[in-house]
Amino acid sequence: MSKLFNIKYAFLSITVLLIVACNSNQKKSDTLSSDNPFEEKVDSILSLMTVDEKIGQLNLPVSGDITTGQAQSSDIAKKIEEGLVGGLFNIKSAEKIKEVQKIAIEKSRLKIPLLFGMDVIHGYQTTFPIPLGLSSSWDMNLIKQTAQMAAKEATADGINWTFSPMVDISRDPRWGRVSEGSGEDPFLGSEIAKAMVEGYQGDDLTKNNTMLACVKHFALYGAPEAGRDYNTVDMSRIRMYNEYLPPYKAAVDAGVGSVMASFNEIDGIPATGNKWLLTDLLRDDWGFNGFVVTDYTGLYEMIPHGMGDKYQVAELALKAGVDMDMAGDSPAIPAAFVKTLKQSLEEGKISMSDLDTAVKRMLTAKYRLGLFDDPYKYCDLNRSKTEVFTPENRTFARKVATESMVLLKNENNLLPLKKSGTIGVIGPLANTAVNMAGTWSVATKQNLSIPLLEGLKTVAGKDVKVLYAKGSNVDYDLEYEKRVTMFGKDIPRDGRTDKQLLDEALSVASKSDVIVAAIGETAEMSGECSSVTNLQIPQLQKDLLNALLKTGKPVVLVLFTGRPLAITEENEKVPAILNVWFSGSEAGLAISDVLFGDVNPSGKLTATFPRNVGQVPIYYNHKNTGRPLGNNDGKFEKFKSNYIDVRNEPLYPFGYGLSYTDFTYNNLKLSSNQLNPNSSIEVSVDVTNSGNYDGKEVVQLYIRDLVGSVTRPVKELKGFQKIDIKNGETKTVTFQLSVEDLKFYNSNLDFVAEPGEFEVFVGTNSNATLKDTFELVK
Ligand code: BGC
Repeated sequence: MSKLFNIKYAFLSITVLLIVACNSNQKKSDTLSSDNPFEEKVDSILSLMTVDEKIGQLNLPVSGDITTGQAQSSDIAKKIEEGLVGGLFNIKSAEKIKEVQKIAIEKSRLKIPLLFGMDVIHGYQTTFPIPLGLSSSWDMNLIKQTAQMAAKEATADGINWTFSPMVDISRDPRWGRVSEGSGEDPFLGSEIAKAMVEGYQGDDLTKNNTMLACVKHFALYGAPEAGRDYNTVDMSRIRMYNEYLPPYKAAVDAGVGSVMASFNEIDGIPATGNKWLLTDLLRDDWGFNGFVVTDYTGLYEMIPHGMGDKYQVAELALKAGVDMDMAGDSPAIPAAFVKTLKQSLEEGKISMSDLDTAVKRMLTAKYRLGLFDDPYKYCDLNRSKTEVFTPENRTFARKVATESMVLLKNENNLLPLKKSGTIGVIGPLANTAVNMAGTWSVATKQNLSIPLLEGLKTVAGKDVKVLYAKGSNVDYDLEYEKRVTMFGKDIPRDGRTDKQLLDEALSVASKSDVIVAAIGETAEMSGECSSVTNLQIPQLQKDLLNALLKTGKPVVLVLFTGRPLAITEENEKVPAILNVWFSGSEAGLAISDVLFGDVNPSGKLTATFPRNVGQVPIYYNHKNTGRPLGNNDGKFEKFKSNYIDVRNEPLYPFGYGLSYTDFTYNNLKLSSNQLNPNSSIEVSVDVTNSGNYDGKEVVQLYIRDLVGSVTRPVKELKGFQKIDIKNGETKTVTFQLSVEDLKFYNSNLDFVAEPGEFEVFVGTNSNATLKDTFELVK
């Protein structure tokens, strides 16, 4: 297995940009939500197929780096020729893809085109902030445009299918993949899921700059026990339906073309073999009509899960509703559709109709993409030269990055920095291009990203003197440091001693008017298989920061992270903290835009920051319990639901984020205090920019259903608007609330709104206190 993963990631780091021109005359096709207009065509192909060819359509091997010219003689080429491959994964460049597609079209018996998939997660070569950062922008248009641009760049490189969006709700920052999702909230997560699907797929999948999306990881992958990746998930149905499933459903409603089954189990059955999940819920209840792919070796993994031998797990997956097997066709992997289904069919363990159902879905997807009309539609010679990593795309990525950053603290308006004097940039994250794009940035040329130091020098202008010291390595623990600086995202260990590094930093600090401390996680500290049990900044960097604070110079903490960190101590001691996530290929410039106030920060957290790891899972939309702690300023009360060693509230709540200006909220008004099922009420509030800068504010609306047939959360986000407000200006922001916004799944899993009293809150984060009430009448 590890060998296989190494091959996968080794390949991902190789970048080739060779392009071949070919035609792309397309006929307009359907959207994925309509009935299948290709049924007749699909059936006629199916009637010609041998069993081997059918099983071949369900096969998604990892091709490795087939180089041009070698493709013809590779093992994979032979399989394609024999019709034993449905798609390839992680091959890129239009030239290579054309060459491989040609084998399918010119040499295989039935000339069925191949899919080409890749993890295009937060941008392609132009990289945007990690998804958790992107979600912090709360800007759906912007997010949609990032997916559009990613699709444009990826398709210019021949790719037609992305393994995105990842919409797993997570309330557990120990889990490294919290970085890949949109945080903890089902409402916001659903809006983002929709925006991403629409961005990738556009309104016409037969265009050559849109691509098939794949919502993942279905389902509940973000809730592993103890935050350990791939671990068991166990959850009540009512929680699933209300809190974890909505974003997947939103992606399906938006017409997503494919779904990836998750690694975890659900109700004791791995998702990959879970018929309730993949058929009853996904297809029968939600009406999904695309195809389902396993996650990487997910089919085989049902053996160690304890679901049977290689035949049994493949049968289980097929019958559950899996259509395509990712990465099973490799000598290292003992179970795969291609290795078992023929025998299972002969033995009557699966039926021809089970097989045909899956094959039809795969062929339909290829029709929907227009690949049968033009298999080379993504192979335009000039596109990648003119459409990938262009100055325009990079400018857009810089803007997006600024929107994702969250100002966590700004005592005495230390920020924005003045463009004069001497700035000491100190810390192991200050000058590392390769860490800027974060996890899952597989198509980025990591070393072309802009590190903070370079960005700061560029944006500061000639009147600022910028000094730099690395200050420390990543951590005291060398082995740990190695584990979190892999896949080319290294920060070479400095040969000097900790003391020598610190002395240099203190010397820089002594010459500086202000210190910018670039500290936190490396890119690979979050992401897949990067779970932690400690949410603090690595101790070596904490020590560096403390030493810098002791100098008495003003310190701005530029916090790099892929997850909510427990920075309670830093929050107490450091006057200004800007959370910059991993903000993509233009990170250094974007961070500097915000530090100098060229852009006023407007990002808001989409995942709660805990005070310490023991508070996890911690999230704003929790239940009240029968013994809630009153609003008592965090004092401990015996026999109430609280801790004896730490107060209940998080360090920073969901929705939190400061600005260089101040916003005040007044005049919350409801158009009526009664809502009847066929109408809506208007909620309005005046938001005033009462500070000294123009700014953007994310105005958030929450409700609380006071009495239900089941217990309801203390708050639920039901609306938000990101608005520009000029210094001194007041804007009235209005929301409409209808009965649809009040619905939830009851204990019969019926989606209902129950008459009764509701509270509505509007404010700047989930602690919003401006409140009114209304009644839902029968
Ligand atoms: C991840 C998926 C990813 C797939 C293909 C898996 O390990 O869980 O998110 O799409 O690999 O790279």
